[in-house]
Amino acid sequence: MDFNLLVDAVSQNAAFLEQTLSSTIKQDDFTARLFDIHKQVLKEGIAQTVFLGLNRSDYMFQRSADGSPALKQIEINTISASFGGLASRTPAVHRHVLSVLSKTKEAGKILSNNPSKGLALGIAKAWELYGSPNALVLLIAQEKERNIFDQRAIENELLARNIHVIRRTFEDISEKGSLDQDRRLFVDGQEIAVVYFRDGYMPRQYSLQNWEARLLLERSHAAKCPDIATQLAGTKKVQQELSRPGMLEMLLPGQPEAVARLRATFAGLYSLDVGEEGDQAIAEALAAPSRFVLKPQREGGGNNLYGEEMVQALKQLKDSEERASYILMEKIEPEPFENCLLRPGSPARVVQCISELGIFGVYVRQEKTLVMNKHVGHLLRTKAIEHADGGVAAGVAVLDNPYPV
Ligand code: ADP
Ligand code: MG
Repeated sequence: MDFNLLVDAVSQNAAFLEQTLSSTIKQDDFTARLFDIHKQVLKEGIAQTVFLGLNRSDYMFQRSADGSPALKQIEINTISASFGGLASRTPAVHRHVLSVLSKTKEAGKILSNNPSKGLALGIAKAWELYGSPNALVLLIAQEKERNIFDQRAIENELLARNIHVIRRTFEDISEKGSLDQDRRLFVDGQEIAVVYFRDGYMPRQYSLQNWEARLLLERSHAAKCPDIATQLAGTKKVQQELSRPGMLEMLLPGQPEAVARLRATFAGLYSLDVGEEGDQAIAEALAAPSRFVLKPQREGGGNNLYGEEMVQALKQLKDSEERASYILMEKIEPEPFENCLLRPGSPARVVQCISELGIFGVYVRQEKTLVMNKHVGHLLRTKAIEHADGGVAAGVAVLDNPYPV
């Protein structure tokens, strides 16, 4: 909930976004294009009045110096945060497996979890506030969608509330989407209340035509989840700048408890912008590579650099302006445990694993009033320790359930 407030505050602070991303957009074309749309929308005036955030903040457990375990944030996902649907189904799977093994007591300890319902309630609230009973929810889907069942769980929850969802690609929008004089969005002649992006977070998802479709959607009165500013608020560069002293206080004035809770989850984050501070960060990472991760402004897994690869990249980037498109992060070292991962094409055997806990947060804001802000469930992903990067979609991690002891 604190992270919802923070993301929402960042998304409304155009000066903070501009200043934070100024060095990055000179070097990273993808962030620059998103930022360009953000500027265009601001210039024209924001037609959107209802704002919807479906976020997932990801953490790993790490022991602090005094031995107490603490959750440290890996990142926050503000666009297309996935697995809320599938994570709603996995408790039943694990309970079943344990019951088959006659471990009834253990089966009873698997936590219940239903993020898809909470995510759908957020969409439903935004739809209701939009205030047009015949309007639809538009889900922007990928051309070749591999995670459709995750999305269907949310769609079905909406249908149960008599809210209809249509699935379209960016290409469909560029052909069939239009705005009326009040910038209300229509697709195939039907009015759209909420646009839910499950595409549009990676460079390769945008052709020129798709960028135009994204701009059309952003200019519209429909509630976008997320709007372009909220997507930018989820970049790694913003995450790094938020860790600077005073930033949280500036963005969340008068909320010292929330600021303290947020700060307690921050790992070390370092700017690589050209200058003394960046030089020092590079020198530290080169001296102790195992303690750091190098991250570009990308989502979707498989983009970060570790170990020797990171060293090579840092040596190359050192004397180039391009280094501003990356950030450096302290490597979080959770304690490994033994578990058995069920993955296609790999034998089931006990291996050393680590887990990452995601917390789903939902918020809805109408103009300046926050009308919903809650957490709606969790996602636990577990992977073998030899995989530094990569999630479930990459075939590395598996969906899991917390087992409270
Ligand atoms: P993406 O946006 O591509 O998902 P992440 O920042 O979530 O990028 O990183 C991908 C994966 O890399 C994470 O799921 C986690 O397993 C690992 N990872 C990222 N940052 C760290 C870190 N600071 N310490 C340890 N592992 C990390
Ligand atoms: Mg991630």
